[in-house]
Order: sequence, then structure tokens, then C-alpha cells
Amino acid sequence: MAENHDHHEHGPDCNHAPKTGIKTARNIIAIASGKGGVGKSTVTVNLAVALQATGANVGILDADIYGPSQPGMMGAKADAVESEGNLIVPTERFGVKMVSMGLLLGPDREDTPVIWRAPMAVKILNQFISGVAWGDLDYLLIDLPPGTGDVQLTLAQQASLSGAVIVTTPQQVALGIAKKGLRMFQQVNVPILGIVENMSGYTCGHCGELTDLFPSGGGETMAKELKVPFLGKVPMDSAILAAGDAGVPVVSRDPGGKPAQAFLVLARELQMKLLQFNKTGNAEPEKVELNGTGQLFIRWSDGHHGLHRPWTLRTRCA
Ligand code: ADP
Repeated sequence: MAENHDHHEHGPDCNHAPKTGIKTARNIIAIASGKGGVGKSTVTVNLAVALQATGANVGILDADIYGPSQPGMMGAKADAVESEGNLIVPTERFGVKMVSMGLLLGPDREDTPVIWRAPMAVKILNQFISGVAWGDLDYLLIDLPPGTGDVQLTLAQQASLSGAVIVTTPQQVALGIAKKGLRMFQQVNVPILGIVENMSGYTCGHCGELTDLFPSGGGETMAKELKVPFLGKVPMDSAILAAGDAGVPVVSRDPGGKPAQAFLVLARELQMKLLQFNKTGNAEPEKVELNGTGQLFIRWSDGHHGLHRPWTLRTRCA
């Protein structure tokens, strides 16, 4: 684990569990949106690379069977897919592992429509859920197709989600539809880890000034109204679009730039929220020690253990 990464294990035996199937991932997070085009896939890839930059092992499961966009945004080639017996070996890009229908379609994926009925799509998703050799993952991000249909429900119910992140743009129409997605998760008891407001204002490519195209802050207001966390805002920035088109997430292409910073803040907020949601009820700390990298190792009486930065503990436990 890297220095600034806080994590929890799901119990004392997890190191011996077979590293296949998504249930071995410590945190499984659905990235969802009410409608398409709000930047859900862009947020997923950049969040993944930002989490990986904290030293975590990260995977992306592209659950958009009919319109997979992860391979394009991650610059992944279809011929890179390998298998190990019955298991799919995830493709690795920018230190992040991924599986996507787009990678299984072959090199002509851009022009190949996926024409399947829902049961077939659900079958493929089940293969993605249980038949992938992920190895040791701290975070698995599931890029859900937009909406609240069969695929979304299957995943919400079968994927043992730690929680969901809802991506929206600030316009009223997008917010209204995002609320429906949010309620779907609440109905199946999946915690909402937070709302991300994407395309929140426009950053001028020449002077860097931020201008609100739509009234900004809608995502934050919605979070307050629905009493769910707000994770942060990402402006509309041509660098984000250009990086996505080039198949290199902007966090990797220009880690010091403003767009990358917005995603790094989101990743940090998400880690905090997971820490809060994973908190261990009434368990007592059994062992606490400072390791060589300045992090605190804590093992709890119920078997959970984790590494924490002292700064995080100070701010969380004040
Ligand atoms: P979704 O997954 O919600 O359908 P995408 O992530 O595919 O949306 O984004 C749609 C388009 O908008 C893509 O071309 C992407 O590069 C672009 N885009 C997304 N977010 C931003 C942003 N913050 N700034 C500029 N372009 C963006």
C-alpha cells in the first residue's frame, strides 16, 4: 500500500480467498447516471487513475454492454484480451485493470453494434461479475449504463456494491433524471457514496477563467436536498475531452493540471466516504502500531484491519 492510502480488509481470511470474481475486491463502487452524455465514463476512468495514484490496486468493469466506451477512453486494444482457463484476464492500462464488452468485440468494435436481448447481456455481466481473474483489488469501479433498467438492477443486487456514485451535469433536466437513478439504489439498499457534478462551468482554454454555462451548484443542492454526500465538481475543459479522445485519461496525461486536480480531489473524497461507510460498528482496536512509512496499522476485534494516515484520523476523529 502507498503512504497515503487508507483501506480496510473485509476480515481476517480475505488474503486466502481466491482472487477471482468481483467479491474479492475490497470496495465495489457503481458509477451511475440517469442519462447518457453527462461524463460518467470520463469520471470513471479518471477516478480510477486518480485512485491508482494513491497506491491502490484499481479495476474497472465496463457494464455498458451495448455501448462500451471504456476501451476507447483508456486506449485499450481488443486483441489484448487473454484468458486463464475459464477466466478472463483483465487488460491493464495506466496501472488500472479493466474488462469491457468493447474488448471482446474485436478490432472493429467502433462499427460493431451489439444486438442482444437483455438475458444475453445479463449473462455476459454475470461472467464479468464472477469470471474475471482480478487479483488483489482495493477498488473496483463499475461503469453502469445510464438509466434504471435490467442491467442496473442486476448489478445493484448481485454485485455486493459498497455504494454508488451518481454523476450529473448541473442542468435541471439532468438533475431530475439523476434523482431517479439515486432512488433506485436507495430502494435496493445500496448506499449513495456521493454526487459528482460534471461539466460544472466551462474553463476557457486560453485564459483559464471558469464561466458558468448552466446555473452551477445543482448537484450540490440536490445532495443537500436528498441528504447524500457531495463529492465535488469537475469543470467542462477541452483538455478532458481531448485526453478522452486520445485514449489517455487526463489525470495520466497531465497530472499537475487543473482538470487532473479536480479528479484527485474527487478520489480523496471518495476514499473518505468509503472509510466512513466501512466503519466497524462497536469493534475495539486490538492492535495499533506505526509502520515504517508513517501510517498507523489498526486491527479491530472483529478481524478488520487497515492502514491510516495520522492526518486522516485527526480530521475524521476530531
Ligand atoms: P457518459 O458516459 O455519461 O455517456 P462520456 O464520459 O462518454 O459520458 O462523455 C461524453 C463526452 O463528453 C465525451 O466526449 C467526453 O470526452 C466529454 N466530457 C465528459 N466530461 C467532460 C468535461 N468535464 N469536460 C469536457 N468534456 C467532457
